[in-house]
Amino acid sequence: MDIQEYKGIFIFVQQVDNKIAGVSFELLGKAKELAKDMETEVTAVLLGYNVSGLCNDLARHGADKIIMVDNKALEVYATEPYAHSMYNVIEKYKPAVVLYGATAIGRDLAPRVSARVKTGLTADCTKLEIADDGTKNLRMTRPAFGGNIMATILCPEHRPQMATVRPGVMQKIKPIEGATAPVEKFDLEIGADHQNVQILDVIKKVSNKMDIQDAKILVSGGRGMGCPENFALLKDLADALGGTVSSSRACVDAGWVEKDIQVGQTGKTVRPNLYIACGISGAIQHLAGMEESDVIIAINKDETAPIFEVADYGIVGDVTKILPLFTEEVKKAMA
Ligand code: FAD
Repeated sequence: MDIQEYKGIFIFVQQVDNKIAGVSFELLGKAKELAKDMETEVTAVLLGYNVSGLCNDLARHGADKIIMVDNKALEVYATEPYAHSMYNVIEKYKPAVVLYGATAIGRDLAPRVSARVKTGLTADCTKLEIADDGTKNLRMTRPAFGGNIMATILCPEHRPQMATVRPGVMQKIKPIEGATAPVEKFDLEIGADHQNVQILDVIKKVSNKMDIQDAKILVSGGRGMGCPENFALLKDLADALGGTVSSSRACVDAGWVEKDIQVGQTGKTVRPNLYIACGISGAIQHLAGMEESDVIIAINKDETAPIFEVADYGIVGDVTKILPLFTEEVKKAMA
C-alpha cells in the first residue's frame, strides 16, 4: 500500500429521515481544524435517498466538498448497502482519514468498513490531532483499561486512518452563512447481493423527555441520593432552574433510572452551561462525560470526594437536606 496516494479527510454523514445527526456537524468542525494541520480538505460523504437538499447545510458546517450516493437502497439505514457504499467511496477516492460518529449506526458501520478496506479503527476517541513529527499521522486518543489511562493510537502503515467519536465530544463550527460546496454524485449499483436484510417497518420510540445532551442545565444524581424516590428532589431543582435530570451509572445499574440519562464514558457526553452533581463521587468514567461543562457545582457529604477537584463550587453536606433548601432559594430568586 502506498500511503502517499491517500489524501483528505472524509466524514461519514449520518442522516435519518433526511435529518443530519448533530455528531456529523461536530466531526466536520473537528475535521476543519485537522485539515489545516494536514494541509488538506474536508469531504462529507452523504449516503441516502433524495438527500441532495442536505448539501448546503454540510457546506455551512465546514465541508469543502461533498460526495453523495443517492440510492433508494440507502433510504433507511441497513448495514450491507451502507458498508458497500462506504467501501466503494474509499476505494475510489482514497482518503487519508475517515471519521464516523460513535452512534448505533456508526458503531455498526465503521468496523465493517475497516475490515473490508483492511485498515484499523479506533473507537470512541475523545481527542484527535495531527502528529507534528513530519508524518502527519492522525493521533487518536481514547480511554483504555476502564478509563484509567488515555491511550493514543496510530495507524501508520495502513490507510485510511479511521476513528469513531462520540456525540458531544467535538464542537461544531459557527455555521458559515451562504457557504456552498461542490457536490460529486457517485453512482453505485446496490444489487440484491448487497441487500440481505429487508426492512418491513420502522417503529419509532416516542419520548417527550429532553435529551440530556441538549440540556443547558443538568441536575445529576448519584448513588449518594440513597434511593430512587429521592430523585424527586433532583427533579424539583431541575424544574425550578429550567433544567433536566441526569445520573451516574451507579443509579442506572441499580435500576433507579433509565440508561438514556446516564452521563459518562459508557453513557452520554454532556457540555451544559451548568452541571450540578449530587451524591456523585466523581469516578474518572463519570468525569469523562461531564468535565467540559461550563460551571460545575458538587454536593457531597465527603469533602475528599474527587468530584470536588473538577467542581467550580462545592457544598459539603447531605444532599437530601441541601437540595430542598437549594430549590427553595432558586424559587425565591426566580419569583
Ligand atoms: P459512588 O462512587 O458510590 O459515590 C457516591 C457518592 O455519594 C460518594 O462520594 C458519597 O460520599 C456520596 N454520598 C453518599 N451519601 C450522600 C449523601 N446523603 N449526601 C451527599 N453525598 C452523599 N460511571 C458513570 O457515572 N458513567 C459512566 O459512563 C461509567 N462508565 C464506566 C465504564 C467502565 C468501563 C467502568 C469500569 C466504570 C464505569 N462507571 C461509569 C462507573 C464508575 O467507575 C463509578 O462506579 C460510578 O460513576 C459511581 O457512581 P456514583 O458516583 O453515583 O457512586
